[in-house]
Amino acid sequence: MTLRYINFLALVLFFTSCAHHKEIDIFDPLHAYFGEGFELQHSKVDRGHMERVLINRPNLDPELAALFTKKIFCNEQEVGFKRKGDKLALYLSAPYHYDEDVFSCYYQFTLNDQKRSYSYPFMQVLIRPYEFESERLNVDRRHVELSDEDLQRWESERDELERVYSELEVHRSYFTEPFKRPLNSVITSTYGRERVFNDNVSSWHNGIDFRAWYDTPIPASNRGRVVFAGDLFFNGLTVIIDHGLGIVTLYCHLNEIKVEVGDIVPKGKIIGLSGNTGRTTAPHLHWGVKVAGNWINGFSLTDIEM
Ligand SMILES: [Zn+2]
Repeated sequence: MTLRYINFLALVLFFTSCAHHKEIDIFDPLHAYFGEGFELQHSKVDRGHMERVLINRPNLDPELAALFTKKIFCNEQEVGFKRKGDKLALYLSAPYHYDEDVFSCYYQFTLNDQKRSYSYPFMQVLIRPYEFESERLNVDRRHVELSDEDLQRWESERDELERVYSELEVHRSYFTEPFKRPLNSVITSTYGRERVFNDNVSSWHNGIDFRAWYDTPIPASNRGRVVFAGDLFFNGLTVIIDHGLGIVTLYCHLNEIKVEVGDIVPKGKIIGLSGNTGRTTAPHLHWGVKVAGNWINGFSLTDIEM
């Protein structure tokens, strides 16, 4: 390198450092915290189940932390979390169908007064295989294929439910107690059972069926906000409760609904009476549980401390 070039370089550096004091980036402490040396946590969830996972709370200066909103995404889905002492309890789930057996979780920090945000991975989750029952049925084609009118109705209901599920409360919880199963009766169809119709059309049971004769009172599994109460083509009279933190319960085939959209219902409140509405062959309660965007085995929710 020639002396002249070195002089030129020094001059450039001098002027650039005078012209722009190097601004301290508000994200620098986050880059440093999650940068080299940060150890990813590892966790496991059974296919079609949920898990409450405790993770370390990022050890950030409170004044700094107050400048950001913090969200957590797992498998590209925002998940609910809450403080548990010096930890965060995370309510995550693994889907029934999946291609990759590992997914990652990351924090997304967004500056309150700007649109700028950064994402930092902190955990890898392994989906453990889980075998579910399966049954083969031979049914009349007409029972599998819908008429144009029924198809149109089902499509508009599907759109409405998609809207309901897109507006769920993820950032706070309505509940403080553990969840309970709605009935203690015989399980007539388990979660995850695969149904193969006429050797090709296949579906899977995304909830749990409880035996229930007509007009059995059905209690809410936990405190929450009613986000749907109405009649659906397949599910019949249906109530959906948003419990917050990305957790939802669904009650189908009711004979009567006893709540309205917007109601905040306490745990155990009778939300309806069981029945045989929608596409069913006998009266029963279909109970669905959705956590972090996946319909999961509801018993993995009622079995745990919240
Ligand atoms: Zn069912």
